[in-house]
Amino acid sequence: MGFIHVLPDLLVNRIAAGEVIERPASVVKELVENSIDAEATRIDITIEEGGQRLIRITDDGMGMDVDDLTLSIVPHATSKIEREQDLFAIGTMGFRGEALASIASVSELRITSRRRDSDSGHEIRVTGAEVDGPKAVGSPIGTTIEVRDLFFNVPARRKFLRTAQTEFGHIVEQLARIALAHPRIEFRLTHNGREVHRLPATDSLRTRIADFYGAELAESLIAIEREQRGLTLSGLVAPPAHSRSTGRWEYAFVNGRFIRDKFVQHAVREAYRGLIDPNRFPVTFLKIRVEPSDVDVNVHPTKIEVRWRDSNAIHSLVLSAMRDTFLGRDLTSELKTDGRTDNDPESRRQQIRQAMADFFKNNAPPPAAEPTLYSGSTHTPTPTSPSLPRGGGTPQRSSVYSQEIAGGASRTVPPYEGDHASVPPYQGGIKGGGIPDPGRSTPAFAVNDLGRVQDDLHLAASAEHVLQVHNAYLVAETADGIVIIDQHALHERILYEQLRSDVSAGALESQRLLLPITINVSGDQMAVLESHADLLHQLGFEATAFGRSAVAIHACPSMLKDHQAEAFVRDMFEKLAAGTVDASPEAVLEDMLQMMACKAAIKAGDPLAPKEIESLLALREQADRTSNCPHGRPTTLRLTLSDLERQFKRT
Ligand code: ADP
Ligand code: MG
Repeated sequence: MGFIHVLPDLLVNRIAAGEVIERPASVVKELVENSIDAEATRIDITIEEGGQRLIRITDDGMGMDVDDLTLSIVPHATSKIEREQDLFAIGTMGFRGEALASIASVSELRITSRRRDSDSGHEIRVTGAEVDGPKAVGSPIGTTIEVRDLFFNVPARRKFLRTAQTEFGHIVEQLARIALAHPRIEFRLTHNGREVHRLPATDSLRTRIADFYGAELAESLIAIEREQRGLTLSGLVAPPAHSRSTGRWEYAFVNGRFIRDKFVQHAVREAYRGLIDPNRFPVTFLKIRVEPSDVDVNVHPTKIEVRWRDSNAIHSLVLSAMRDTFLGRDLTSELKTDGRTDNDPESRRQQIRQAMADFFKNNAPPPAAEPTLYSGSTHTPTPTSPSLPRGGGTPQRSSVYSQEIAGGASRTVPPYEGDHASVPPYQGGIKGGGIPDPGRSTPAFAVNDLGRVQDDLHLAASAEHVLQVHNAYLVAETADGIVIIDQHALHERILYEQLRSDVSAGALESQRLLLPITINVSGDQMAVLESHADLLHQLGFEATAFGRSAVAIHACPSMLKDHQAEAFVRDMFEKLAAGTVDASPEAVLEDMLQMMACKAAIKAGDPLAPKEIESLLALREQADRTSNCPHGRPTTLRLTLSDLERQFKRT
């Protein structure tokens, strides 16, 4: 007697179910794909309790007769392929013949179906290994599949399920992936008796996007079209200003199937490189058509990954089509005409300035505070040779500091105090001031320049001793070397700490808006109003539904200025609805505080007035844990004199 035995069918199906049926959304995917393969023109999806209690899919497709009904729940029974060579040219969504058998093994399944050419329907019920039917019943043409009590017999999976709202979020995402690929099919989605999406049939992808995500996004989209070596690409992509906080908006489809593909993704990010913040993600809806024999979809049980016959051709198709389209348009004018003020650099700068001024006014460092970043007394003058080569070949001491000296700046009154308007000359001084490109291996710069200035002026530590370079970094001298500060990361960290302590003191300051901000939202985002009411309150938001597809914000945290509040609320609703943050309420709060700090913080690229730099550095001294931004990136790099000496081989 050996040890090996063949597993019983039920167990085999359970194992298969483990692969394809991860959560309610996977059931929805499999069933809706079956309806599409049955040539349905209309598909209704009814969900209760995030799909755990009930998933019901009704279609008007070709239906099944008694024999097919009996076979449909048998593993590896399919009407879609017959021979091995069919595997290399798959034209249907399904082909594995596993979904219904898998679903039947982990739920109470009921299928009712009637073929177009038949005048009665049949029904079959399956629970675990028990099959009841088929028996004749009255039924409209098409198929209705009901899945109740999903995972009732798989406690491990059931425990893994998140809240109904989160699971429903996954279902909505699943619907998006299918409905965007098939705009000619009408879809309806209902949750707990409330209609969340109604998507009428249309020939236009743009219309489908408008119905799903709102007209604002849809109207902004840029059309992409290209045919190259038998491959066709068509689709819509958002201008850079519509970037998002998550990568889930990078939709790509091949032959009507949603895919996640590293070649497509790489090409898309490459096309947007330099146009959007590297931490943000573009919005794309790209449809690729290839000969079915040029793509293998039989790579992954859920078919979300594919293998291309020629992945380079796909990459180049996507990249060249998008690049050429972007090059042929004036994207900056689109930025300006989308009605959002934060894209006009000048008004944006104004707003930042105002935000900074307000912020610092409320957080002014104590007047006596002696920032310890510099300590003139311990400064050791570093010998400088007059012939020391300078970066860019510009004259020595050409920075703004020498101008200040020439202008006879007072020792006690910093030259730019209270006058933010003097930023441009200051900037110019730095830009043209022979600061070497940090990427090049030019001699140490800041130490000598700053050191001389300090010696000459004996100024108290202040922004005059700090260089802002590339409008992104602050370079400052310390007792034993220099520090390079990432202005965005530092400010973000400071704001984050402040937010956290305010929230834990229950005192996040909120301000009422004169005019409410309204934001278009999808149905699942609308549900966030209820499901995250506490969180919204805690963060200082007052939000109400405004019609069926918009949310009105009446009050928002004072830290966010109007345009930031709008962008933040957009990201917040998207994140909460997507269920990407479905951890504990504390973790969600934490996540939101990080997002808020990031939004409110000065950005790389923002020029700072000396006063602003000074305040930022003073806050740095006060705040805890400023060495890393909330995302864990460092805010400050240090180089000691001995590091420098080593680098210059002085030792
Ligand atoms: P697959 O889709 O891979 O063939 P499934 O287990 O999902 O496997 O479905 C098995 C079979 O049941 C399908 O091949 C199809 O013939 C039939 N079927 C499933 N759903 C429907 C439906 N909504 N309408 C008509 N036939 C269906
Ligand atoms: Mg199927």
